[in-house]
Amino acid sequence: VHSVRKVFKIACIPGDGIGVDIAEAAVQVLRKLSERVGSFEFDFTTFDWSSRKYKELGYYIHPDGPETGMEELKKFDSIYFGAVGWPDVPDHISLWSLILPIRSSLSQYVNVRPTRILRGTSSPLSNCKPGDLDWIIVRENSEGEYAGHGGITHAHSSNTVATEVSVFTRVGIERIMRFAFKTAQSRPRKKLTMVTKSNAQRYGMVLWDKIYDEVKGDFADVETDKMLVDAMTVRMVLRPESLDTIVATNLHADILSDLAAALSGSIGIAPSSNLDPTRNNPSMFEPIHGSAPDIAGKGIANPVGAFWSAAEMVRWLGMENAADSLMTCLENVTDSGIKTKDLGGSSSTKEVTEALCTEIERMM
Ligand code: ATP
Ligand code: MG
Repeated sequence: VHSVRKVFKIACIPGDGIGVDIAEAAVQVLRKLSERVGSFEFDFTTFDWSSRKYKELGYYIHPDGPETGMEELKKFDSIYFGAVGWPDVPDHISLWSLILPIRSSLSQYVNVRPTRILRGTSSPLSNCKPGDLDWIIVRENSEGEYAGHGGITHAHSSNTVATEVSVFTRVGIERIMRFAFKTAQSRPRKKLTMVTKSNAQRYGMVLWDKIYDEVKGDFADVETDKMLVDAMTVRMVLRPESLDTIVATNLHADILSDLAAALSGSIGIAPSSNLDPTRNNPSMFEPIHGSAPDIAGKGIANPVGAFWSAAEMVRWLGMENAADSLMTCLENVTDSGIKTKDLGGSSSTKEVTEALCTEIERMM
């Protein structure tokens, strides 16, 4: 009897700059992992949807043909994403042409961003021991400040008026709140901190507070507290050990997760998962960092965030043990001192990648 290897179809969108290097590294590691575990394999299809292509063709995701790019994506089990953006295309164009349409078309309304200090790395905070910083930021990923509502009014010739309207809905808030409570409940400390700015923003943020109060009743075993986002930045720096699971809006969580990544050692470490919890659509996994034009092409990009994102993808696809093993191997590598410059090491992207592949071979 032949054992059947489950095949997962993965759409890989490397994007721009270091996105290309780290996506290639992640594919190499995922191939090695599946080869060693043996019960599953990945069938990768690469989509060159990048700023370079945009300059040539005028679009990122191909809008026509027998199928639009977005329809094509729906046929995959998961999407692995590098990074998008290049200085010759304004950032709001690349963002609104590629990543935001994917998140909304595929109903990826949750963005999960874990942060902790990996073995062999350290926080820039001198008071912070490894176990002190272990957070999961749950970011609302479908509405709020990034809803794209607003416009520019030239009616008054003496001034230009731009509005950027946040849109919050009961459905949108409640589903992210419930996801965050469930996440908190699944963690040892069962602790959730909800972040708003409801002292200064009196409609959307107050609705967040109200729905938080309602949902809380269904999760009696979760310890909760509320913070204003400005005070939250202070608490993250001064009392990192007091936090566990954090839920915040699209914009607030975007900012807080860059801070979280920096506090855990480098923005190059942090992973993110864009999830459709209904599983009707593929979810998308990407490091939180951007295309980093300043270091692109130098071979020194830190691939750790890309590997961690790959582990989260493996976990979402149901291979918990393989995901855990991948993280153990990854931390064995950082612990052995094989790290890129941003983590205080001197290894190249390639050296870290090869060290991880060797470690997977040794351990699994
Ligand atoms: P985006 O708008 O896509 O978030 P950004 O311009 O805000 O991008 P990044 O591209 O994330 O920012 O880069 C910010 C800084 O962090 C840069 O100086 C970059 O070199 C550094 N950086 C980002 N990712 C990595 C990485 N994987 N390894 C090493 N350094 C990185
Ligand atoms: Mg950024």
